Amino acid sequence: MDNLNKKILIVDDDETSRSLIRQTLCDYKHVYEAADGVEAMAFLQRNPDTALVFLDILMPRMDGLELLVRLRLSPKFSDLPVIMLSASSEEDVNQRAIRLGATRFAYKPYRMALLLQMAEELLVLPRKEVDIAPGSLDAFIFSRSQAIDSGILVIEAKDDGTLSTLYFTPTYAMLCGYNTKEYSALVSASSDLSATIPSAHFDSFRMSVGMIAEEKMPMAFYLHVRRQDRQTLTLSCLGSYFAQKEGEHPLVCLIADTQELETERGGEAELPNERLDRLTGIANRATFFHSARRLIDEHPDEKFVLGTFDIDRFKIINDVYGTQVGDSILIQLAASTAREVLGKGVCGRLGADVFAFCMPEQRFDIEALLQSQRFLSDNLGLAYNLVIHNGIYPVTEPKAEITTMCDRANLARSTVKGDYNKRYAYYDEPMREAIIAEQEILNDMQKALDTNAFVLFLQPIYSLNFEKPVSAEALVRWNHPEKGIIEPGQFISLFEHNRFITNLDHYMWELTCRYLADRRDRGLAPLPISVNVSRVNLFQPDLVNDLMELLRKYDLTPAMLRLEITETAYMDDPTQLITASEKLRKAGFKLLVDDFGSGYSSLHMLKDIPLDVLKLDMRFLGDLEPSSRAATVLLGVIRIAQSLGMVTVAEGVETKFQLEFLRSAGCDNIQGFFYAKPMPIDEFEVFLDSSPIV
Ligand code: C2E
Ligand code: MG
Ligand code: MG
Repeated sequence: MDNLNKKILIVDDDETSRSLIRQTLCDYKHVYEAADGVEAMAFLQRNPDTALVFLDILMPRMDGLELLVRLRLSPKFSDLPVIMLSASSEEDVNQRAIRLGATRFAYKPYRMALLLQMAEELLVLPRKEVDIAPGSLDAFIFSRSQAIDSGILVIEAKDDGTLSTLYFTPTYAMLCGYNTKEYSALVSASSDLSATIPSAHFDSFRMSVGMIAEEKMPMAFYLHVRRQDRQTLTLSCLGSYFAQKEGEHPLVCLIADTQELETERGGEAELPNERLDRLTGIANRATFFHSARRLIDEHPDEKFVLGTFDIDRFKIINDVYGTQVGDSILIQLAASTAREVLGKGVCGRLGADVFAFCMPEQRFDIEALLQSQRFLSDNLGLAYNLVIHNGIYPVTEPKAEITTMCDRANLARSTVKGDYNKRYAYYDEPMREAIIAEQEILNDMQKALDTNAFVLFLQPIYSLNFEKPVSAEALVRWNHPEKGIIEPGQFISLFEHNRFITNLDHYMWELTCRYLADRRDRGLAPLPISVNVSRVNLFQPDLVNDLMELLRKYDLTPAMLRLEITETAYMDDPTQLITASEKLRKAGFKLLVDDFGSGYSSLHMLKDIPLDVLKLDMRFLGDLEPSSRAATVLLGVIRIAQSLGMVTVAEGVETKFQLEFLRSAGCDNIQGFFYAKPMPIDEFEVFLDSSPIV
């Protein structure tokens, strides 16, 4: 297009000044005027093809610098030539205008020939055509940069890492509760932004600004500022970088909305392409995945660690102290993590109270991390000890998905979860194998039940008086088609956890009943058998009915099927256990306490619940030298059981010495390898033949 046909806008509140310039440009056909920034903005929105702007600095409503910043922020006007009309004395303002993107300066009083020459030169320059995709972050920035109610802050990031305020709009100052003059004073009084950003948010703020400047990518996040009344205000905010010339410090421009985040809470007001976690200000899940990926990919020769951590029983903190305290802990934890990690690697909040980090192994120091977590806990000022558990995955497969790496770190973490003394665990091969084995067990369990792969083993229980078997315990074994016999220690607790134990126990009881009925039908001497009742089953309301039905089915009496319950059930819920055991005894069952003394409610349980048999596990007692404390305890327990009218069974008896000791202590029965190991039914029958029942 012919330069003379291009649109030129003169923005100045001084009418004389405007007409002077207009006269100079008399050859140009499309010259327009605006009296301030607001008018100019409106004009430019209608005429995005404007080719040149003359811009006065001091104007009411919206001054020249603000309009300039808003133009530079908008992708449509970032290359629009702007000639600043300036009184040459305002050197500081001029400097800032250059940093903020002024193209040229014309000093008052104007030299018209120079002005004309400048215009001609700039009008020749081609302007880029910008298409802004609707709904994109660019479109969002465009609309916010044009909206006069949004406050703008321009931050300069110095080489030494300090941040300073280069420019702010009056609206921004107002959002923070100051007028322009007060905010100016505040900003110039401190060399960094600590006067305006609360310290808890400072690190994450620095990280956001660093990220925008470095990646030259705009992003949306939440900005926490300290207002004049010392309250922390959370503003939804867009950060954009300013194109800077070589050798200049990077600038980041933040557009803060007047709309407070607080009022949006509850409603799911999302910023487009949100990249930072809105509460803590550090990277959110997606951003963390993205930046960890980049970090690892860009350093193929480096070894990395990826870790996750969370706060033990965080829900309780929220519940007891309120979500505000919970939030503040998360913010502080994020800040302390950022301090620990940034500069070495990346970190982010994955969600709720789970955080993640990734950094070169060489620079990772677990002790320093734990130390920072402990320091935070000590300085929270809460009467609550913050317990944080960490899981660390040394990245052995750098090509794996970041989510997979997080899963591995999480798995490692799950192995120490709830453990007060262990605060971290590394993911390694044995752990991986154990977890896979566990998973295989879970995958195979139902099939095993359907194909009768769970088998009944019996271990005789001997009378010490008669030296003959008086009973037996039913113990499960898993006859796995590939792995052979699997011991219950490997699967019972897993099944308790996922409640599959309900099915398995029922199955084992049925096998036991079938065997008891079979013995009776063959005319063999009756031998009561005890079965294990997991604590999950104990609290089933129809437990008694279930058992009675089984007995009816095989025409047996409750006296034949004894029930072993463990103390841990009492620890879970004493009242329910009291009710359950009363019902069972009323129905005619004999109750055995298994593994007596392994928990910490043993005496309570004895006091509260009438039980028939007490099983003591010798393996819990350790050294049994005659004058040892263990021996004294054992003697005492046997005496208590006797005076409560209970029968005593010592389990895990392996040596003659143990046996003789138990005999002299007055123990009634013995179960242990000394006499016999648990064995399949056919072996058990052979065994009984050689050692007949009393
Ligand atoms: P428990 O009920 O206390 O069973 C006794 C355990 O001690 C058995 O281990 C038995 O083999 C072992 N044992 C007996 N005498 C000795 C000995 O002299 N030396 C040693 N070292 N060990 C001895 P097992 O069969 O591995 O069972 C472990 C636990 O798994 C059982 O402890 C029980 O709590 C649970 N369990 C086994 N079968 C079932 C079942 O069908 N249902 C449920 N709910 N739990 C079961
Ligand atoms: Mg048992
Ligand atoms: Mg036991």
